Amino acid sequence: MKQLSRVLVTGAGGFIGHHLVSRLRRSGYWVRGVDLKYPEYCASEAHEFQIMDLRNRKDALQATRGVEAVYALAADMGGMGFISCHQAEILYNNALINLHTIESARINGVKRYLYTSSACIYPEHKQTDANVTPLKEADAYPAQPQDSYGWEKLISERLCKHYSEDYNLDTRVVRFHNIFGPLGTWDGGREKSPAAMCRKVAIAKLTGDPVVEIWGDGEQTRSFCFIDDCVEGICRIMHSGTRDPLNLGQDRMVTINQLADMVAEIAGVRIVKKHVAGPMGVRGRNSDNTLLRRSLGWEPQISLEDGLARTYQWIEQQVSVRLAGNNSSISISGARLSEALAAGSLNQELDRPRVA
Ligand code: NAD
Repeated sequence: MKQLSRVLVTGAGGFIGHHLVSRLRRSGYWVRGVDLKYPEYCASEAHEFQIMDLRNRKDALQATRGVEAVYALAADMGGMGFISCHQAEILYNNALINLHTIESARINGVKRYLYTSSACIYPEHKQTDANVTPLKEADAYPAQPQDSYGWEKLISERLCKHYSEDYNLDTRVVRFHNIFGPLGTWDGGREKSPAAMCRKVAIAKLTGDPVVEIWGDGEQTRSFCFIDDCVEGICRIMHSGTRDPLNLGQDRMVTINQLADMVAEIAGVRIVKKHVAGPMGVRGRNSDNTLLRRSLGWEPQISLEDGLARTYQWIEQQVSVRLAGNNSSISISGARLSEALAAGSLNQELDRPRVA
């Protein structure tokens, strides 16, 4: 794959795309990044970064011109709070993005194409128990994903399979299981559970209000994979000979309550968990890494504790800055922040939904 020296990363303004661009650049590739927006927290290291809307065929054709490999990460996505109430929008936007990107890659003679799918493709009925059997790749069928997000991912996986069979486009498909880390969305409504938990615990620590809200009873289970392992896995899968979809995640499952306790311990703060109504997603989900290990001779290495510590540190910093920005006369610790929170101003700012 070293000969594939010019590469495109779509979704390069997003969390995983941004980290991937940096990694590819360090590995010596010429990188074009494409997204609707620039990365939020840090400048992109892409050689060329184009603001484009891949729902438009013209943009997709331009984005894929002159590159040998495509890492297709662009997607309209978020955590459960977002996915569960934007079903039509997600299906419409992501179908257009993926149809145009792969067809444009074919037209422009791209040699290899990696598509980023999700554990959300797995059937809901296999994830009804918190003590779930880890999901192996073959469990995807017969299909019954919970949300339109997962259905669209499945269709785009099929696109890869058929473009590979019919047009000889060399495709790879990776199914991520809850990727987290620094420089990921941590507020605004699209954030996922590790980032949301780090934010809530940081607010508890910085304001002295120990209450941390958790959606549902907190006994739902997930596995979480740190971003450095994710990027390493993407690169290994792109260079592998495996065309069939592969899970990429950790296979250590924890409950959301346990996740909250782990973050609180890292932060060094006592929290009071308050269980409230909210979208919970499937009851349990874990990754079976047998095929990943067999295909790559590798699997994610970074422990949840280590990954959370690095993520928490970054999010606490973000929260501090946000809190300070809301009222520059307030110092970050102490009761005066609690007073401001009680008045509602800071919470409103921290919890405000992002305008799409
Ligand atoms: P992200 O939301 O941070 O990044 C996705 C990027 O795609 C965003 O920057 C967004 O602006 C861009 N995008 C959306 N619509 C676009 C359009 N029309 N044209 C161009 N760009 C557009 O998400 P992420 O966590 O970095 O996820 C990357 C990929 O991995 C996505 O395909 C996602 O579905 C998949 N995935 C992520 C996870 C996870 O845990 N983060 C889990 C499963 C699958």
